[in-house]
Amino acid sequence: MSFAAFRVEKTDAGFERSVIERDEADLPAGDVLIDVKFSSLNYKDALSATGNPGVTRSFPHTPGIDAAGTVLDCATDEFEPGDEVIVIGFDLGMNTSGGFAERIRVPSGWVVKLPAGLSLHASMVLGTAGFTAAECIDKLEAAGMTTDSGPVLVTGATGGVGSVAVKLLAHLGYEVAAVTGKADRHEFLHGLGASEILSREEAAAGSDKPLLAERWGGVVDTVGGDTLFNGVKSLRYGCSLAACGLVSSPAFQATVLPFLLRNVNLLGIDSVELPLQEKSRIWGRLANEWHVDLSELEERLGLEDLSAAIDRILAGEMVGRGVVHL
Ligand code: NDP
Repeated sequence: MSFAAFRVEKTDAGFERSVIERDEADLPAGDVLIDVKFSSLNYKDALSATGNPGVTRSFPHTPGIDAAGTVLDCATDEFEPGDEVIVIGFDLGMNTSGGFAERIRVPSGWVVKLPAGLSLHASMVLGTAGFTAAECIDKLEAAGMTTDSGPVLVTGATGGVGSVAVKLLAHLGYEVAAVTGKADRHEFLHGLGASEILSREEAAAGSDKPLLAERWGGVVDTVGGDTLFNGVKSLRYGCSLAACGLVSSPAFQATVLPFLLRNVNLLGIDSVELPLQEKSRIWGRLANEWHVDLSELEERLGLEDLSAAIDRILAGEMVGRGVVHL
């Protein structure tokens, strides 16, 4: 049976993108064949589509680290045909044919049952980016963050992870400060619930100082670089920063002083290899007490729109979440 798929091919001229017909028989081995209804565009998909060897090494390739759909066939007794499921992370869309296609075949150990209270569509408005925002907040709260800790800073705030983090934190009663490079998107961020907006320059200023004024009760950092460590240096006593991204830089200048003098924590966030049980727990929170209407964040995309959207996400111009309708 053939199906439509976005494909990236390596040619002498570089990495070329197109929408093609593929055959189910060409999908990798796996226990679960899924009819993909929705996927979403994440920064990592753009890295895959441009040949970043840390993400994808073998081409031709179909990216898409996210997929939500219904089970067509399962070789184990874990899923029945018709079950609604979500797959994010693990190797999906990296070196395993991904969610920018009407079919995926994956190991059952990557598959989460869609929790009651969440639609397939809503799960992909969240996607890896929204899930990661939730994972950051979950870990910050486990480290002691409460609404009394102080305002929470979110960097890269108009992006996928950032915009969901702003909306979710505001929904949970936190005071939110947002860092953005997009001067024309302040209204959008206030609409999501940010009460204060900082420019990227403000967030990166003072990187030569060992400590900055104590401001934040928590930080969700999606950009890395000096902005990340400025966040650590501006945490209130005993508070934490969750580091999940690197769009600015993977490297930063640091000293141990904030850790020794202010008892602060730098928390690592990985959504890819997070064990399935933990993934299910966080999806469960997003379906229940953390359920928020994110429809204002959605940009609807078809497979044919993906190439242009990939260029925009690489240029830092995407706002909110690109949701792929298959
Ligand atoms: P997006 O491109 O949607 O968002 C990133 C945002 O960062 C942009 O919208 C922009 O927001 C800001 N930005 C872009 N370039 C720069 C720059 N040079 N300096 C400072 N800010 C910049 O990406 P995602 O939200 O999907 O992903 C964000 C990061 O998180 C990526 O590095 C991604 O790889 C990582 N990630 C990690 C995961 C994990 O498991 N650890 C999972 C998911 C994502 P604005 O204009 O508002 O400043």
